[in-house]
Amino acid sequence: MTCYNCNVPFTTENSSEEHILPQGIGGRLTSTELLCRNCNSKYGSTIDKDLSKQFESFVALLRLKRQRSKELPILKNLISPSGKLFTLKDGRFPEPVHSPVTKTANGYSINARNEEEFQAILKGFKKKYPGSDFMEMENKVERSSSYMEEPIQIQMNVGGDSLLKAVGKIALNYYLSKHGDRKYVTPLLDFINGNLNNDEYVHHHLIEPSISWNPREVSHTICLQGNPDTHTLVAYIILFSSASYIVNLSETYAGPSCSYTYCYDVMTHQEVDKEVSFFYPGRTAYKTAILTTKVKDEMAQAIRSSLKSATSRILGLVELFQYEDKIEETGVEAIIEVLGPNFDEEEISNESVNKILAVFNQKIGPFLIHFFNKHKKLSNRSSQ
Ligand SMILES: [Zn+2]
Repeated sequence: MTCYNCNVPFTTENSSEEHILPQGIGGRLTSTELLCRNCNSKYGSTIDKDLSKQFESFVALLRLKRQRSKELPILKNLISPSGKLFTLKDGRFPEPVHSPVTKTANGYSINARNEEEFQAILKGFKKKYPGSDFMEMENKVERSSSYMEEPIQIQMNVGGDSLLKAVGKIALNYYLSKHGDRKYVTPLLDFINGNLNNDEYVHHHLIEPSISWNPREVSHTICLQGNPDTHTLVAYIILFSSASYIVNLSETYAGPSCSYTYCYDVMTHQEVDKEVSFFYPGRTAYKTAILTTKVKDEMAQAIRSSLKSATSRILGLVELFQYEDKIEETGVEAIIEVLGPNFDEEEISNESVNKILAVFNQKIGPFLIHFFNKHKKLSNRSSQ
């Protein structure tokens, strides 16, 4: 057995576990029969890395932690409509990037997301201005809280040569993991390695996929079809239930007729049974379509609008997850506030339960009202 890229025979030293879909986007399916360690790390630090970078907003917002590292990508330079800068570290609640302390007419104003953060800022403040009368100041602190009313814009730029190569490699990995014959896919490998200057091997797919997703599903899907009668070997790939691609693996295919589908939900880490049907008119027909300028414009438009609607589905899901997290987080806070962190489940009295509920209601009330108002405003706007 040899590496499909450099042909070096596998040994115990150079063998490696190749992720068929890059780990950086939540891929878990692996094979040790594809790439040697060198080639694996070469692709990992180039095209796979670029692909993961392009989808890092999804990775952060959906909180997809990588298998080995527990870190989420940090999204920087997020901008609100009024021009305020934010950083998103935990995939949920953005932090403003500005000095948390500002001087006001009556003293200072400190912006913090919670009491803990407020105390940390106060500590830094004391260090900076030693000798000020902080005891007196702390007694005079006036607290107020408010919700951020502005939406934060997430920029996503999906596309480019490197992305198409990485998508081509996903299809190649999958085909070869099914013990497909390498001789049919040499041109695709040349394209992935940058030895072929043409973009006919991998395209963004134009036709809206006829696939239905479960309400909370966010999947990566690979559908591979080989047909010796038409000599075509084609893969249809959808990342994050959103961006779809056609990979033209071969047009001289003479292997067995085959059809495989792999669909992996990155939220549940489960494989999902999926019916996928797609139509590819063949490279020549596709190229003819691309060459017509009018169609080219329409095509760019179609890619944008299908990506946009798929992306808004994901962002809607993220909002739901944020809402659920907020409720859970508040519940935990209320329990800890009433019982302390080391409580014994067996000994919780009805009185304590009532206290917990009272604290929970008090904390969650303003959030629910805010959430309700926000949706009321949105639905008013759309009905006008
Ligand atoms: Zn190799």
